[in-house]
Amino acid sequence: MSAKMINLLMASSAETVAAIKQALQPHDAEIFVHRIDKQQDLHQALESQDWHMAFSDLELSDFSALEFATTLREKGIEIPIVVIKGTGDEEIAIRCLEAGVYQFIRCNDQYLERLPDLIDAFLKHAEQEKARCKVEKKLVESEERHLDIFDHTSDLIQCIAPDGSFIYTNPAWRTAMGYTEEELKSLNLLDVLHPDSQLCCRDRFKRLLNGEALTCIEFKFLNKSGETVHLAGDCGSIIKEGVSISTRGIFRNITDTVRAEEALKASEARYQALYENAPDIYTSINAVGEILSINHTGARMLGYEVEELIGESAAIVIHPEDQRAVFEYVGKHFHNPSDDNGIEYRKIRKDGSVFWVHQRVSLEPGVQEPRLLVICRDVTEKRKLEEQLAHQAAHDALTNLINRREFEKRLQRVLAGTATSPEQHVLCFLDLDKFKIINDTCGHIAGDELLRQIATLLEGQMRSRDTLARLGGDEFGVLMEHCTLDQAASFAEKIRVTIENFVFHWRSHHFSLGVSIGLVPIRSGRSISDTLNLADAACYAAKNEGRNRVHISHAEGAV
Ligand code: GH3
Ligand code: MG
Repeated sequence: MSAKMINLLMASSAETVAAIKQALQPHDAEIFVHRIDKQQDLHQALESQDWHMAFSDLELSDFSALEFATTLREKGIEIPIVVIKGTGDEEIAIRCLEAGVYQFIRCNDQYLERLPDLIDAFLKHAEQEKARCKVEKKLVESEERHLDIFDHTSDLIQCIAPDGSFIYTNPAWRTAMGYTEEELKSLNLLDVLHPDSQLCCRDRFKRLLNGEALTCIEFKFLNKSGETVHLAGDCGSIIKEGVSISTRGIFRNITDTVRAEEALKASEARYQALYENAPDIYTSINAVGEILSINHTGARMLGYEVEELIGESAAIVIHPEDQRAVFEYVGKHFHNPSDDNGIEYRKIRKDGSVFWVHQRVSLEPGVQEPRLLVICRDVTEKRKLEEQLAHQAAHDALTNLINRREFEKRLQRVLAGTATSPEQHVLCFLDLDKFKIINDTCGHIAGDELLRQIATLLEGQMRSRDTLARLGGDEFGVLMEHCTLDQAASFAEKIRVTIENFVFHWRSHHFSLGVSIGLVPIRSGRSISDTLNLADAACYAAKNEGRNRVHISHAEGAV
């Protein structure tokens, strides 16, 4: 305390102050003493100086040592307060101690002798107390800071005692798990562990208690509502004197991520199942036409195992005649996949059999090297149906010869050709003679059968450039291309004789027939109907001339 200044505030009588001053004479510090004896002086004194220590009589004229001490503490003045007291009134003494009074002394020789040492001891104690308070304050602030972090982090923090009881959980932990701090007091770690995690967590807990640190672990809790909470994080142990006193865990709630991953997996599995079992061929090919993937259905439709096709050229499953068109189409769509109307072509199976597909393509998303997703639907049945319909539209159902409409189309083509070519063509019109007799005698079914047999008979007569058609009823037409009128006349005669010689058998009946035939050259500039009318008229003329004969129409417009 040498060369030190000690400011003493004394709320005491002048005699006491003088005695104390006297007693402090031997002290090596410079001691400044200021006496007050009224309450209003106290406030003034407290504002005017920094005091190192205070003395107060137990009772003063208008205030007491208790009020003195309380005022100092209220103003945050943490200095040693010593109360000078006589005897008695222990109750007030206790209240003074509660208000922060350090010590009681009496103003007698016994105390006054020891006063310099007492002051040093008090000041030293006050210093230490101040330092301790500072450390404590820092500690409290640090704890508050940590608690603040724990309170506001989204991580789940827990401290578990070696017996599994909860020592600490932060709000994020309790929010995720749905428990209050109070409820956790009666719970154990095992109560909140998901059954799937019980076994591995028991083992982990033992390892933690042995001082091991566990990082990046994942496990499941069950929250208060019984829902699964997925956690991931790190665990460690707080070891004191070689013994674990608590485990600590800091985890992230990964429930949403796990659920999203599960949903993604389920969705992938669904799409995989759809992809594999879709009724169409799904392939993906690269820019050189290599098969990169194919679904099971697709491979099965083509008669291969999936593995046999991966890495092969798509050409091995395309009909050779269609390969060029398909690769042109594919090449175009690598650059402009949006403009896709599809393409129909023939696939070829491993066993060489063929089926029709309709193909569409799209660029595969999310891949670096361009790949085309190719979807092929089997359209063989549709094609068959279309062919059937086209056949039906062009053929006569009874005889299966081409019908009048198709015959007219072909006649039109021949007529169009006459404008530029000197080639001669002839139209031949046939009408059976007295066909009705068959119907009338044996019925319509017999008539139908006769028409079928005549059709077959006529077909057998046709030359390579002739087109035979049933034009309706018992009328037939023959388009004789690259044929002069003379050649046509002799061919028509041959037909007539063939029919004449033909005998139709129906049950016990036998019928012989005749046919009237009209011939007309196909001339440039004539319409279809004009040409047909002329042939019809020529046939009519053959009828008029006595039937079963050939009539040739030479004249322009007249028979
Ligand atoms: P004509 O000698 O003058 O040619 O007389 P026709 O008896 O042969 O009779 P016509 O050529 O004038 O008429 C053909 C008949 O053929 C009319 C109709 O009763 C019959 N007919 C038409 N279409 C069919 C058919 O699909 N099946 C059968 N069974 N008969 C038909
Ligand atoms: Mg007839």
